[in-house]
This record gives sequence, C-alpha cells and structure tokens, in this order.
Amino acid sequence: MEKAVILKRGKEESLQRFHPWIFSGAIQRIEGSPEEGDTVTVYTNDHRFIARGHIQAGSITVRVLTFKDEPITYDFYLNRISIAYKLRTSIGIAENPTNDTYRLIHGEGDNLPGLIVDIYGDTAVMQAHSVGMHINREQIARALKETLGSRLNNIYYKSDTTLPYKADIDKSNYYLSGGNASNISIENGLRFHIDWLRGQKTGFFVDQRENRSLLEKYAKGRKLLNMFCYTGGFSIYALRGGAELVHSVDSSSKAIDLTNANVAINFPNDTRHAAYAEDAFDYLERMGNNYDLIILDPPAFAKHRDSLRNALVGYRRLNAKAIEKIQPGGIIFTFSCSQVVSKENFRTAVFTAAAMAKRNVRILHQLTQPADHPVNIYHPEGEYLKGLVLYVE
Ligand code: SAH
Repeated sequence: MEKAVILKRGKEESLQRFHPWIFSGAIQRIEGSPEEGDTVTVYTNDHRFIARGHIQAGSITVRVLTFKDEPITYDFYLNRISIAYKLRTSIGIAENPTNDTYRLIHGEGDNLPGLIVDIYGDTAVMQAHSVGMHINREQIARALKETLGSRLNNIYYKSDTTLPYKADIDKSNYYLSGGNASNISIENGLRFHIDWLRGQKTGFFVDQRENRSLLEKYAKGRKLLNMFCYTGGFSIYALRGGAELVHSVDSSSKAIDLTNANVAINFPNDTRHAAYAEDAFDYLERMGNNYDLIILDPPAFAKHRDSLRNALVGYRRLNAKAIEKIQPGGIIFTFSCSQVVSKENFRTAVFTAAAMAKRNVRILHQLTQPADHPVNIYHPEGEYLKGLVLYVE
C-alpha cells in the first residue's frame, strides 16, 4: 500500500498557496503505516494528488518537498541544490574570491525544508532538522559534491542537536566525506577560524555578514561594545573600520578564545581590542558610560511561542540598559533571531526600552537576514532575523 496522507475536506487550501507544512489537525487519515522520515504522498479528501514530503512526529506532520508529482530521488536533490548554488553565484555570494563563507541551503527558503548547508572554504557543514533529511543524507552529500565539484573537499554532518530528540536514530556527527579540512574561511576579505566540531550551530553565524559590513562603516573613531560576540565577527569588522577601541563580551569562555584567535589572525598585536567572559546583564550593569557604539546580538530568547512574553521582557531590559548608558550621539545595533518574535514585537520591546531610558532615539536602519538566507514567499515564517540600528541623542 502506498504511504499516503489524506487530508480533511477543505484542508488543502494552504497547500494550494504552496505553504510547505501540513499540521496534524488537517489530516483525516494516514495509510501504508509510514515511519518517521519516510516520504509520503499527500492527497485531498477527494483523492487528488497535492504534494509529496517527509512525514514526522509532532504538530507539523509533513514537510512538503514538492507540489509536483515527482519522485524524491538523488536527481530531485541534485536539481534543488544546483538551483540554490546558481542563485548564490548569480548574486556574487558564491565563487567570490573575497568571500567563501555562505549558506548554500536555507531550508524552506530553498525548497528543502529540514535541511541547512553552510559553506566554509572547501567544507560544507550539513545539518538535518528532520528524520527524512537524515535518512537522505548520503544522497544529499553526493548531490553537493556533484554541484560544487572540486570546490568541495569535505562534508561534515552535524545534526546531533537539531534532529528531533525523541527520534530513535544514531545522531552522531561525522564526516560524510573528506575530513582533512583547514578550518579557516574568508568573509568579505576577513579570516575566521570556524569550529564546526565544537562550535554552536554549524560553527559560525553566517547570517550577520551584511550587518557586519554596515557596522564597519560606522566604526571609525568609535568606542565599541560587542555584546554576545561569539566568534567576534562584529569586532573584527569594527577593527578594520577604524574603531578606536573594541570590547567583546560573551558568557562563554570558549567564545572569548575564538574571538581572540580571530582578532589575532586578522590584526595581530592590535591593542585596541579586549575580550571578557562575563554575563551580559552583569556587564551592562557595571560598565560605565564610555561606549558610543554598542552591538546587542543575543541568542534566541524565545524558542517556542509559550516563552514569548519572557523573551520580550529580556529584549526590553537589555536594550533599556544599552540605551541608558550609551554616549550622546551613540549608535546601537540591536537584534533578535527568535523566529516567534515578530518584527512588530521586537520593535515594541525596543520602543519601550527607549521610553524607559528616557532618551531621544531614532531608527536609522531596519535589518534582516542576507540573500543567502532567502525567504520563501509562501513561507513567511522563514524571516527570522530582525535588527534595528538606533541613533541615541
Ligand atoms: N554576534 C555573534 C552571534 C551571537 S550568538 C556573531 O556575530 O557571530 C549568541 C552568543 O550569546 C553565544 O555566543 C552565547 O555564548 C552568548 N550568550 C548567551 N547567553 C549569554 C549571557 N547571558 N551573557 C553573555 N553572553 C551570552
């Protein structure tokens, strides 16, 4: 019997608008006893084909891979991956001698829900968020090699923290291909050590590339605090931009070591930079009023809808402290990467923070994720990174 999902009457509407998720409430019955990660065909209640995708446990029951009646094979992945690569080359992000750090596959944004691939030099770090992508990982690796050719020598599979935790599968990280990788990659001409073995996410926050470039333009002569620095990305751009002083802060001492290493390979013996392992709120409390450029790029405060309220309180507190303490004429780059926090939610939190600090604040820029993290127009949930650049009188 074919592995199939039959929808309730009328529940195909969002699929007709190409939304790639099917929630459990839309399903009338499941046929053919599929297991988590299997490919299933989705039919309307009157038995018309509507989509094909990976089935999974949980409220999102199917992640749609295609709205065409086509098989999910090696050729399917090859086609999707080569479209994604062509997009990045055509806009100058891939095959760029001054930049070999980019996201090649951004899940739904590249019509491959559940799959993330970041490129660091000649290494791809691949991350599965669904059991279906986990099962297909070797096909995907082959398709990556065929698409990138000699540009790709290593593929590291890193899904131990992103696969559904209840799934009964071996989630170990390992090299699907190669393994002798240099871990230095180049972003806009700057060099970074990428620790995909032990680091967070795939090893680096590729999504801040353009926002770091904007920061560089504002850095000249300024005294900068890079709060939640992780690998020190913003700090290194600020040093190149001519900042007078750069302080990087992160609660993780591993992050501080990475930041120091990244400063050292780009600006050896540069005395303008210092890094501190300390909690953000403690540091903001005790720091003086010396900074005139502050970056706030915290981890996702809300991972689920139920923690939204607390997250907004967190953003408000954080921003209020920075707005209160920054020098007159100072600039703040403030971000939220929580998907469940909307642009409006975030703006309201920052607005309330400004009012609490009783300062005049203008919005200079409204920032988001770069073009290698595209948003599928039928899946607005894919827009997750929000940033504001503030001018504080
Ligand atoms: N701005 C970084 C990414 C930040 S990721 C970049 O451009 O790459 C968020 C960072 O916040 C992580 O490195 C994490 O260690 C740090 N962090 C989490 N909670 C913290 C806290 N309470 N105080 C300071 N840093 C914290």
